Amino acid sequence: MKVHEYQAKALLAGYGVPVPRGEVAHTVDEAVAAAGKLGSLPVVVKAQIHAGGRGKGGGVKLARSIDEVRDLAGKILGMRLVTPQTGPEGKVVGKLLIEEGLGIARELYLAVLLDRTSAAPLIMASTAGGMDIEEVARTRPEQILKQVCHPTLGLLPFQARQLAFGLNLTGDAFRAFVKLATDLVRAYVALDCSLAEINPLVVTNEGKVVALDAKLSLDDNALWRHAEFAELRDLSEEDPLEVEAHRFRLNYIRLEGNIGIMVNGAGLAMATMDLIKLAGASPANFLDVGGGANAEMITNGFKILLSDANVRAVLINIFGGILRCDVLAEGVVTACRELAPKLPVIVRLTGTNVDQGREILSRSGLDFIVATDVADAAAKIAALRLGEVAAQAGANR
Ligand code: GDP
Ligand code: MN
Repeated sequence: MKVHEYQAKALLAGYGVPVPRGEVAHTVDEAVAAAGKLGSLPVVVKAQIHAGGRGKGGGVKLARSIDEVRDLAGKILGMRLVTPQTGPEGKVVGKLLIEEGLGIARELYLAVLLDRTSAAPLIMASTAGGMDIEEVARTRPEQILKQVCHPTLGLLPFQARQLAFGLNLTGDAFRAFVKLATDLVRAYVALDCSLAEINPLVVTNEGKVVALDAKLSLDDNALWRHAEFAELRDLSEEDPLEVEAHRFRLNYIRLEGNIGIMVNGAGLAMATMDLIKLAGASPANFLDVGGGANAEMITNGFKILLSDANVRAVLINIFGGILRCDVLAEGVVTACRELAPKLPVIVRLTGTNVDQGREILSRSGLDFIVATDVADAAAKIAALRLGEVAAQAGANR
């Protein structure tokens, strides 16, 4: 789960990470009032969307007067902000963060993420702050400093100091950084983050070290430990189909291709996505209906697949174990009767009650393409020749 910058900053401040003074605003009047409360100029007007790169897209602006705050707030609120991370469709700005403007001496980069190789949190720092860090990693990897954190002890003092030396910090800024980096790792662990990124982390003209930006991703699998996160969720920022799927307890993730898939079991879903790729096409989604799916969940899953305008064909690949093939077939038939899809539906079934399942499909009078096994399913997908279209749809998003 992603949260907005203003929420991330409030969470991090709770662990002692210094952030600029500021307030969220939903209207132009609130923005003006927030700027008035700050009592100093300039102020920064920042679009709050679940994507980075806002500065480049015109979503972060410095205002030198209250009139300018009013003007900028009016322009940014409601705008469709396109950044390198939003895709060409952009995101509509519904909230602003109004912050005190700081005099910046240096822009650094600092982030904590999960390193799967060492199976521990990894803290990364760089003097190349405020830039596209992926680009730095590709072209100047030596400019990224790394320390693997102990899973329970966190960032040890000598590690924090090594980072601070590497960033050429001295004096008060050195000490402030050591504390901030340690606090950031503490926050990362306590909040069950999968990413905590500060870009830029700035050294101000007064020598203070402040998180000028903040991005947190909270691990969905740990949300049950944080009832307090529920109110941080902003559904308007999430893919509506994913929100809908979540309501039906379906594991659905939207992808960029055009073959909608419905599978039981995450492993089979991954294998099915590979299968589609090997057949020269591209999956439109990941959908695991789970082992215990009933006809209603199948119907709901099928509806979600078909609501994706990119979907040109559907592949249902089910291994009937706990979920029996006849139950699956009933669900699919019900959904097809109701939705009357005008696209090819390929069904590959095997396992418990497979004969009854196939019987239900063929007696339905509906036009399914039945695949006898996985290789046959792949051949039937390849025969649809949707590969080229898939590549194009991917490029368009
Ligand atoms: P992002 O583009 O979505 O990552 O948004 P950021 O919060 O990182 O802001 C983009 C850029 O705006 C930063 O890299 C800074 O250069 C600039 N910026 C943000 N806040 C301030 C501020 O208080 N003072 C100054 N001078 N620049 C700021
Ligand atoms: Mn940033």
